Amino acid sequence: MSHPDFPTYRGRMEYVCLECNARYPGDDLLYTCPCCGGVFLLENLDFDRLKERSGAQWRELFDARATSRSTALRGIFRYYELLAPLPDEEDILYLGEGFTPVVEAAPALRDRVGVPFAYKNDGQNPSASFKDRGMACAFSYLKWLCRHRQWDEVLTVCASTGDTSAAAAQYAAYAGAPLKSAVLLPHGKVTPQQLSQPLGSGAVVLELPGVFDDCMKVVELLAENYRVALLNSKNSWRILGQESYAYETAQWYGWDMTDLCLFVPIGNAGNITAVMSGLLKMLDLGIITCLPRVFGVQSAHADPVWRYYDAPVGTRHWEPVTVTPSVAQAAMIGNPVSFPRVRQLAETFVEKGGEKAFQVLRVSEQQIMDATILANRHGHIACTQGGECLAGLLSARQLGLISGNERAVLDATAHILKFSGFQDMYFGNTFPPEYGITPDTSLANRPELLLPQDARTGRDVAEFARMGAEAVVRRLGLNPR
Ligand SMILES: *Cc1c(COP(=O)(O)O)cnc(C)c1O
Ligand SMILES: [Zn+2]
Repeated sequence: MSHPDFPTYRGRMEYVCLECNARYPGDDLLYTCPCCGGVFLLENLDFDRLKERSGAQWRELFDARATSRSTALRGIFRYYELLAPLPDEEDILYLGEGFTPVVEAAPALRDRVGVPFAYKNDGQNPSASFKDRGMACAFSYLKWLCRHRQWDEVLTVCASTGDTSAAAAQYAAYAGAPLKSAVLLPHGKVTPQQLSQPLGSGAVVLELPGVFDDCMKVVELLAENYRVALLNSKNSWRILGQESYAYETAQWYGWDMTDLCLFVPIGNAGNITAVMSGLLKMLDLGIITCLPRVFGVQSAHADPVWRYYDAPVGTRHWEPVTVTPSVAQAAMIGNPVSFPRVRQLAETFVEKGGEKAFQVLRVSEQQIMDATILANRHGHIACTQGGECLAGLLSARQLGLISGNERAVLDATAHILKFSGFQDMYFGNTFPPEYGITPDTSLANRPELLLPQDARTGRDVAEFARMGAEAVVRRLGLNPR
């Protein structure tokens, strides 16, 4: 049944609680530690067996898999052994996620920034954000688990107003029975665009009066007491899937991380956790021989991780912040659930890569929005979080943190179309004061109506076309040929 390319290796996965170090077998549906409520990282007890292959052999294998005709190996599971080596081929969901393009900065933009860089367009995933990487992994695991446990129904639930619910609803819709999905939203607190993705995917969309945090509490109660798979950011299977971003980036650069700097926006901090975890695994196996530098970026309106690392070593202490409205809305989180994961991984990262290997930058709302507009005026498709990364790169240049012979890869975590409302506010100069953004009005771009509203009435097509053409000629100053 299985494709000849599909790996035979299986791992022994265990949940490890980052608070109390308790361990639980990976074939249980666990969300947070039943003892203390801490978050988990998943560990493969048979990871060291992977060292029977050399780094060069792994690189060769992953390069060879790039041409595999097995659907299961075309997405994030190309790196099966490093991710979540449990599901069989039949369990793996592939909706076209992963292998998002790395697009070099347009020459004019590169010159302006003063350092070569590229965007990795994670907005070109199926539901238009990087969340698909984690969902592909979580759902493949769930399919495997249902088959093994012979469960005939599992409900997946998440509280979200954005990209997580869009991705969860889409993967559940594709998977079908025995998986079903419901999303819980705060009534009246989501825009029509944010609603349209889970509705279109046929998820049960439930609303509660209250805010996002209230919905979150409700789904956590459900997860404690009923058989539901909670797909919020604490879900540790999602982290494994998101590691694929690091593997793909390394592979794209020929596994050579010399002088490379990765910029990642930090919200709940799952993404940066995954990127660092993936890089460390590759280093451990000799797939890469040095670590790239990783720069986390936060908005000044939601900057708890920046505050923590801004303090000198020895005086650091963790404190959630109260957020204020941010255009990097998907990262607007004052108490990131994955912070314990970041702290643990950053320590190892700096140990192996030097103290400059992991840094967190803080940028203003103004810088984020200006950078988003700037990127997209140069042909990119950066969401506001992708703009946040460019703002981070510009700021790192200004602070002298990056030299001219380094190059950067910026994570455009979603497609700009999901965040076009902020572009509208920029062009229309309609930001509410709490954002603190003054648009560069010379960049305002709006459609221009060439003829009066009633110009078509009472005219035949030929006459109307002539008038229209004349108006275009006047506007663009065209010369006759
Ligand atoms: C979720 C999300 C983020 C934040 O990622 P974390 O893993 O929560 O740090 C950034 N950008 C987009 C578009 C997202 O959907
Ligand atoms: Zn615990």
